[in-house]
Amino acid sequence: MRLSNEIIFQGVIDYLVEELEYIDVTINLWIKPMKILSIEDGLVTLLCEHDFKRNQVLRSYHGDLIEAFKIELERDDIELDFITKEELEAKEKEKQAEELEKKREADLAARRAEELPMVNPAYTFENFVVGSSNRVAYETSLLACRNPAEYYNPLFLYGPSGLGKTHLLFAIINEILDKRPDFKVVYITCEEFTNLLIDSISKKTDPMEFRSKFRNLDFLLVDDIQFLMGKKAVQEEMFHTFEALFNRGKQIVFASDKQPSELENIDKRLISRFSAGGVMDIQPPDTELRQAIFKRKAESYGVDIPNDVLLYLAENIRTNIRQIEGAIKTLKAYSLIGGEEISFPMAKRVLSEYLKKAEEDNVNSEKIIKYISMRYGVKMDDITGAKRDAAVKNARHICAYLMRTMLNMTFKEIGTILKRHHSTIMDSCDNVTERIKTSEKFKREMDSIERELGN
Ligand code: ADP
Ligand code: MG
Repeated sequence: MRLSNEIIFQGVIDYLVEELEYIDVTINLWIKPMKILSIEDGLVTLLCEHDFKRNQVLRSYHGDLIEAFKIELERDDIELDFITKEELEAKEKEKQAEELEKKREADLAARRAEELPMVNPAYTFENFVVGSSNRVAYETSLLACRNPAEYYNPLFLYGPSGLGKTHLLFAIINEILDKRPDFKVVYITCEEFTNLLIDSISKKTDPMEFRSKFRNLDFLLVDDIQFLMGKKAVQEEMFHTFEALFNRGKQIVFASDKQPSELENIDKRLISRFSAGGVMDIQPPDTELRQAIFKRKAESYGVDIPNDVLLYLAENIRTNIRQIEGAIKTLKAYSLIGGEEISFPMAKRVLSEYLKKAEEDNVNSEKIIKYISMRYGVKMDDITGAKRDAAVKNARHICAYLMRTMLNMTFKEIGTILKRHHSTIMDSCDNVTERIKTSEKFKREMDSIERELGN
């Protein structure tokens, strides 16, 4: 019969006392505080309290301990290994980390097997640059991530394209994968959800299979929810998915480029669910935040960009943060190829092409004013001037609204161009939004303007 480690160690102690005449003090101070961790063949691993004691034991009692173990275990090939509590803990931590890593890999493999979308691990809360225009979205995302279903459920993030909605969703999922490996969490775009649903219907697989994928989760993130517009069957499925999770106290996060009230052709029940938790917007970043984002992105690409260049970029690349990345990559490529350091003149030269192209592709405020003045037969100067007659006011409202929706400009920036206070600009935008909502005719008019300008 195999003896337990305690009994073996007691035998060793007895031998030290009886045969080698160890006194109580020695036993109590140096020997007893140790414990046998494992015995593998002749290798005995002993746990010591700390490094100092281990050294003392090694120096003074190593030989005697070997002798005692030889007798006790009845073998000649005894070797002793001493490990401290600290080392043991570190080892265990390492083991846990390894297990976590394995779990993450398995999770990824499962995601691949289930054809669920991948999540870019580079998008984290740490590298999301926070400013006044995105702070609320950032903080509520963090809250939902760390206290699922406690505060804002569902959390609904909305804002124009390229301002960090997907980044925040990825940040949530990355943190959960790291810190709550027990959590079942899924990120999916609405489009992929739709495709999976169509697949499952066309292959006539058991609908439960599709459902179980999304209804037995702890956390669901659905991106680009505006894709639901006009898709009745998908809305139905999304609604029941939502209900199943919500009723079991699970967190759901949606991202959209429109706020719930602007989503059209979507079941009223869904709209009311979207609005029921917390609806948080992301606004276009101001110059300061753009500069900070440029700086962070440059660091992450390992590019050194001086401050004057950062400011130049932030002032010239305004609409979309995706363009920020494009600009940095362009600069990096030029400096690598040309071996030239990134400086203000160099950036100006290189990016003038890049910016010109972005400019040509994009509408800008001048194009908007020009087009609207033509379309409504009012003078361009009047739009930015003092006149207050109905036709001019109407044109001005529409310009403000278009700069806001098509160019992501802030109210303040629009105010500077139209020579109005930003609160007046806000009113102008509200005025147009309201008319779009209440008049089908006006809505068609605006759609047509945006189409014309967009080309
Ligand atoms: P959206 O989903 O709103 O269209 P994304 O999340 O895809 O926008 O963001 C576009 C790009 O801009 C991504 O590379 C993202 O990392 C970056 N980005 C957006 N906002 C920030 C921010 N505040 N800090 C750092 N990067 C950002
Ligand atoms: Mg996105």
